[in-house]
Amino acid sequence: TDVKELLLSRIRDVADYPEPGVMFKDITPLLADPAAFTALTDALAEITVRHGATKIVGLEARGFILGAPAAVRAGVGFIPVRKAGKLPGATLSQAYDLEYGSAEIEVHAEDLVAGDRVMVIDDVLATGGTAEASLQLIRRAGADVAGVAVLMELAFLAGRQRLEPALGGAPLEAL
Ligand code: IMP
Repeated sequence: TDVKELLLSRIRDVADYPEPGVMFKDITPLLADPAAFTALTDALAEITVRHGATKIVGLEARGFILGAPAAVRAGVGFIPVRKAGKLPGATLSQAYDLEYGSAEIEVHAEDLVAGDRVMVIDDVLATGGTAEASLQLIRRAGADVAGVAVLMELAFLAGRQRLEPALGGAPLEAL
């Protein structure tokens, strides 16, 4: 579609970043283009509303940039999921494995409640580890998963397959 072409045209491939052999997808040209950023925000808000979500969880850091305007547009609340140690209140934490080592993400426990239906938003789904951990956090908080929405899915890394059990039938939409 036209929107897909517009979004694709504003994503920059950066070779050998952050390490040799990696082709990094850089969304800063898209953010700098108001027509593209608006189209992306509208598309993420439409997915959020279509799946009946009551909250958006944005994954640090680019999930904040994309998720916050989508939440305003969709008329739902925004909840940041942050790297460990950044949130001041009582948190739930979830550790997950990286290619080398591990990472931990957190959410304010009181921000998610039973009855919430949550749409997780991020820029890129790579291995799916970050999104999988966020879905585990959401379920541990007693909330329901409405789905995961990303700008880009790097299909060769098979994140969709990894996410499937944690999605429990909820949709993964990649624009
Ligand atoms: P995953 O946990 O392997 O799926 O990695 C996803 C996380 O890493 C997301 O929060 C992305 O923002 C980030 N990420 C991985 N690859 C890229 C990329 O090529 N461009 C931008 N972000 C990326």
